[in-house]
Amino acid sequence: MRVAIYSNDGSTSNKVASQLKAKIKDSDKLNYDGLNPEIVISVGGDGTLLSAFHHYIDSINKIRFVGIHTGHLGFYTDWRDYEVQQLVDSLEDDNGQSVSYPLLSIDIKYKDGGPSDSMVALNESTLKRVNGTMVTDVNIKDEFFEKFRGDGLCVSTPTGSTAYNKSVSGAIISPQFNAVQVSEMASINNRVFRTLGSPIIIPPNEWITIIPDDPYHNILTCDQLLVKNRPIESITYSISNDRIYFAQYRHTHFWKRVSNSFIGVHKDD
Ligand code: NAP
Repeated sequence: MRVAIYSNDGSTSNKVASQLKAKIKDSDKLNYDGLNPEIVISVGGDGTLLSAFHHYIDSINKIRFVGIHTGHLGFYTDWRDYEVQQLVDSLEDDNGQSVSYPLLSIDIKYKDGGPSDSMVALNESTLKRVNGTMVTDVNIKDEFFEKFRGDGLCVSTPTGSTAYNKSVSGAIISPQFNAVQVSEMASINNRVFRTLGSPIIIPPNEWITIIPDDPYHNILTCDQLLVKNRPIESITYSISNDRIYFAQYRHTHFWKRVSNSFIGVHKDD
């Protein structure tokens, strides 16, 4: 099986990556292949897994990811830095087992007459404005829904719902749902201006289009990436036809992860 390692630059991550590489080299069943891997092992945190996802985005349907965390427990990382040998044993016994999660499709039209862009996010996409209020139309299934005024909007996947979305009071969604959530960032609500004021969640056969009044002064992100600065006509968000696959050698219950990460103290502690 062809395996690649994608590591962050921390000293623990570098050490784990070197150990892994040596064990892969010694294995009869595994080959290191950074260009055309079947398995990508990300070593670091959730941010590292996000970077690995975008690094291998062109072959996302052919890859299964595995995450080793070298800091605190992550949402995309199941293995600890001291479990390298157990992970290599699991890779050698691999029988293709996987679990997959929804991704966010982002289609952007520009006002400069140039080509449109399509991209895919694992966590979320945000549209924000920092030098003044962002004013946008929000359409659902091409029908006008509301005029948003505020700092911005965050559109996230279920696995991304524990990231930026949570910081702006979005709901945490189990990744078993095929859904996309839109959360507001500091909307203006008074007698004159009104938004829904709560997150909304759309199913696979619906889409959301955001049309900024001002095409120029917006910041558009796709996970940790800044989308290039061109005047935006509209952005359409929907659930992607692609999914991210993880090699599932062990199972950590999603709600256990949420509780461990955000609550920490348990009844029996
Ligand atoms: P970063 O600013 O270095 O890290 C942001 C934090 O988000 C890290 O602690 C990271 O965990 C964590 N994280 C990433 N994905 C997560 C997920 N699905 N669930 C829970 N936590 C998650 O940036 P980065 O490492 O390049 O990550 C980019 C992400 O940062 C964006 O996709 C966005 O979700 C998040 N972000 C959040 C805010 C906010 O909450 N106000 C603002 C900007 C960006 P690790 O430490 O394990 O890497």
